[in-house]
Amino acid sequence: MNMMKPLVFVTRAIPEEGLTLLRKQCDVQVYRGKGVIPRRLLLKNIKHCDALISLLTDKIDADILKAAPHLKVIANYAVGFDNIDLTAATTKKIVVTNTPGALEHAVAEHTFALMMAVTRRLVEADQFMRAGKYHAWNPSLFLGMELQGKTLGIVGLGRIGKGVAQRAVKGMGMSCIYYDVLRDLDFERTYGARFVSLNSLLRTADVVSVHVPLLPSTRHLIGKKELRQMKPTAYLINTSRGQVLDEKALVLALRKKWIAGAGLDVFEFEPKLAVGLGRLKNVVLTPHIASATIEARTAMAVIAAKNMLAVLHGKRAPNVVNKEVYDDYVY
Ligand code: NAD
Repeated sequence: MNMMKPLVFVTRAIPEEGLTLLRKQCDVQVYRGKGVIPRRLLLKNIKHCDALISLLTDKIDADILKAAPHLKVIANYAVGFDNIDLTAATTKKIVVTNTPGALEHAVAEHTFALMMAVTRRLVEADQFMRAGKYHAWNPSLFLGMELQGKTLGIVGLGRIGKGVAQRAVKGMGMSCIYYDVLRDLDFERTYGARFVSLNSLLRTADVVSVHVPLLPSTRHLIGKKELRQMKPTAYLINTSRGQVLDEKALVLALRKKWIAGAGLDVFEFEPKLAVGLGRLKNVVLTPHIASATIEARTAMAVIAAKNMLAVLHGKRAPNVVNKEVYDDYVY
């Protein structure tokens, strides 16, 4: 081993394109075990490494960082970074990066896949076919809701929220309302989107799609009170983070038919489901695969590697999430 090369630890095999970039300049060790790396192994491996590629399933807290005296950069293989204690990282002058710009299309498309699957009851219909229950065409078999002419309510009009809104307006003939902490007047003009309060969005939208990051301010942003405001014909889609939604309240809402259905890619107690959720017919569930396209996952690996190499070369990484780590940061 060339001792001069920085040591990079990767907590799970990511696409080769990213690893190849790193191997040219670093010693790269990849955890090849099954599932999420056990904490004791993460603690053991992080001791000697200069750089870490982590997944959203790796909890990088203050204790982990304390065990990493040489760590200069954490390149999270995700857009979200709620798995990392940013304050602790910044205090230790560790740069944290994410992978924006690589997965908006994949997540927006998956959001649509969920929206269409639940409104057109595709999973129920597929199970019906496989069970050999289709005997004759029936005018009222699996009636669903048309998206054309309906109102989409986007909660969090960031990169992914915009991607979903654009597809809805341009591709599906929907109109768009949105709620965010910021307004985007250009987007409003281009797509005829209307900025509204969260309450108004919930009361009006035929499909509510959630795209906020997980922050203290967004934890349980959609709970019992919010679900109660939605129309009984409306659908809820969540591809952001599970904890943005009170999943127990959602089970109640789906059971009591406060809303028509839901499509979920993320779960409050991931990988577990809230009690009763898996037994409901009016919900479509996917195992956090919204960004799971070959294109997106490959691009994410390359972005993570480039971010990491920039920091190891003493340069600014393109996608730093804790910018206050730099001495010249202006608050
Ligand atoms: P982004 O930062 O571009 O957009 C987030 C938007 O939410 C911003 O416009 C921001 O102003 C808004 N926002 C923040 N706090 C808010 C609040 N309290 N109320 C209303 N709006 C608020 O992020 P993005 O790239 O669009 O990604 C959004 C989230 O999607 C990520 O943080 C991540 O958690 C999740 N995600 C999930 C998957 C998946 O596989 N399911 C993949 C990628 C991202």
